[in-house]
Amino acid sequence: MSRFRFSFPRHDPELAQAQLAAFAHQIPLLYFILLVNTVAVSVTHYHMAPAWLTVGVPCALFAVCLKRFLGWIGTHRRQIPTNIAVRRLNSTIALAVLLGIAFSVWSLSLYPYGDMERHMHLAYYMSLTLIGIVFCLMHLRAAALGLIAAVVPAFLVFFGTRGSIVLTAIAINFALVSGAMLTVLLTYYRDFASLISSRKQLLVQTESARRLSDENFRLANLDALTGLPNRRRFLYELEQRVAQAQAVGGAFVVGVIDLDGFKPVNDAFGHAVGDKVLIEAGLRLQAAASERIFLARLGGDEFGVIISGAASDDELHAIGDQLSTALRKPINLSGIVARVSGSCGFARFPENGRASAALFERADYALYFAKHYNRGQSTIFSGSHEAKLSEQARIEQALQAANLEAEMHLMYQPVVDTDTQKTIAFEALARWVSPALGSIGPATFIAIAERSGMISRLTEILFRKALAEAHRWPDDVGLSFNLSVHDLSLKNMGQRLAAIIDTAKINPARISFEITETSVMKDAAVAQANLDALIALGCSIALDDFGTGQSNLAYVHQLPLSKIKIDRSFIGGIEANKVSRDLIRTIIDLSRNLGCMCVTEGVETAAQVIILRTLGCRYIQGYFYGKPMTGNEALARIAGERVVGIKSATARAAV
Ligand code: C2E
Ligand code: CA
Ligand code: CA
Repeated sequence: MSRFRFSFPRHDPELAQAQLAAFAHQIPLLYFILLVNTVAVSVTHYHMAPAWLTVGVPCALFAVCLKRFLGWIGTHRRQIPTNIAVRRLNSTIALAVLLGIAFSVWSLSLYPYGDMERHMHLAYYMSLTLIGIVFCLMHLRAAALGLIAAVVPAFLVFFGTRGSIVLTAIAINFALVSGAMLTVLLTYYRDFASLISSRKQLLVQTESARRLSDENFRLANLDALTGLPNRRRFLYELEQRVAQAQAVGGAFVVGVIDLDGFKPVNDAFGHAVGDKVLIEAGLRLQAAASERIFLARLGGDEFGVIISGAASDDELHAIGDQLSTALRKPINLSGIVARVSGSCGFARFPENGRASAALFERADYALYFAKHYNRGQSTIFSGSHEAKLSEQARIEQALQAANLEAEMHLMYQPVVDTDTQKTIAFEALARWVSPALGSIGPATFIAIAERSGMISRLTEILFRKALAEAHRWPDDVGLSFNLSVHDLSLKNMGQRLAAIIDTAKINPARISFEITETSVMKDAAVAQANLDALIALGCSIALDDFGTGQSNLAYVHQLPLSKIKIDRSFIGGIEANKVSRDLIRTIIDLSRNLGCMCVTEGVETAAQVIILRTLGCRYIQGYFYGKPMTGNEALARIAGERVVGIKSATARAAV
């Protein structure tokens, strides 16, 4: 419909702007053609026609043109509002028609004064100028058409009727060329308009692609649950801060916060409640965090902070307290009250590390420290932590390079039935003598093996060795074997251990696996599946170090336990400490109610044995009855006990 419109569409601002810009480039050329051609005609007619016609009229017309020309200067460099652009273009059409008529009338009015040569010049002037200007108006179809409409018919009628065959031929020639020019013009303009329209579409597409990628970027950097920045964003921010501080100096602190008590809530009440607790925790941390704190959720129940500027120990502890106090208030969720708190670990730039990975690792180490020794509070990474870290790195390297089969062995500590004074089982305890580092305690290397992903291989090697040893014992002597947190959270570990038992041809009922509360809490579903596989085989499960973890009784109740081991930390003070005694009595009662056997660990003196027996404790493990011993010593011990047993039976029979 707009194909032959003689005005500029307001609904297509891009086209109007593009036309204006393209035309603005041609204007000097347009006026140059007009000026040069007109001056030439004025000159050839100067002495023949009156001066007002050869000089006055052209000057007047050029005054109009000059005014117009000055108005255009710089237009192509300026961004003009669309409505003004459209107005300008419309006035250009009108002016093109008016000037076309004016210059045509002027040149034709010179005709009577000239001879044949000058007549030819006039025809030449009008046709050449028109063609030149139409090409300058190529992007303004309406103006070009208006100009052609104003000039060509007048030209044809005028020169076609002069009675000169040459002029008539020129008129016909001009009519044909104008037709061809019109076709070129229309085709060119259609291509130009469609080019602008596809450029516009491309811009729209690029814009929507940009918006989409902005949105993707936002989502990729946001934690979907809490709406906080996510781990990726946190690490990016950390990188930025490190780069900035390294370039221009400055200090900041990285912190990692871990919720205490989240796992039991999640396991007991389900993931929907767990999610709500995390959302609430995120909101509270956000509310408690000041302007200088960048907060993110790193995953699970772990949050990260970056604190701008330097901070003293007191300031950091105050920030840590503020954050964990916010978390500690009970969370009310339609009838359920969840209680969590937060432990924080902090590390400083540049004191504790100049690279983001090192800083994060140190904050994480401080958190690990807080979780173990400072639960619910904050720990700031210190020089002593640094020493421990590098010691651990050394051990880790040695462990990675170790020949586990050759360097690892087990010691066996007896568990004694105080009624019969007999060893009913041995607990297998891992030992590592590294050729490079000497003897390293299991508490150290097991944790490192867990971190470096070697634990399941190590567990399998140790378990095979323990079973080979137990094979040498009488059938009524059991074997207790420790499983680590990672063992239990590893899919199919139950089946792998079952396969080892099968190969060792040992009665599974003799084997008891020691686990801790935290090990089950890490990934409850996988842990449960692993335990089920072992129980199905006939093995039993013991809860180790009871009383040191979070001791969630509701939780302990759900575990398929046969044995509870009271941690040795309760034993130290039982002679003097009534609270310890009461606690032990309670645990023994609890075990009885759960139908579990109860073993007390870490018993070192006869006095402790006597007190424990009065509290109802029958099974004891500790240095008093025997330190961890080699396989041969364990075998000798059993043999010795059997001889004593035979002797006393013989003595009883003789009485
Ligand atoms: P645990 O399972 O609680 O093992 C008991 C620890 O207490 C042993 O330390 C043992 O030597 C020590 N102990 C026993 N009786 C007494 C006593 O009367 N007084 C004192 N002070 N200590 C006593 P050990 O062998 O250094 O083992 C430390 C921990 O390393 C173990 O604690 C266990 O958690 C872990 N562990 C040991 N062997 C293995 C293993 O093969 N696999 C896994 N996953 N963990 C192991
Ligand atoms: Ca144990
Ligand atoms: Ca223990």
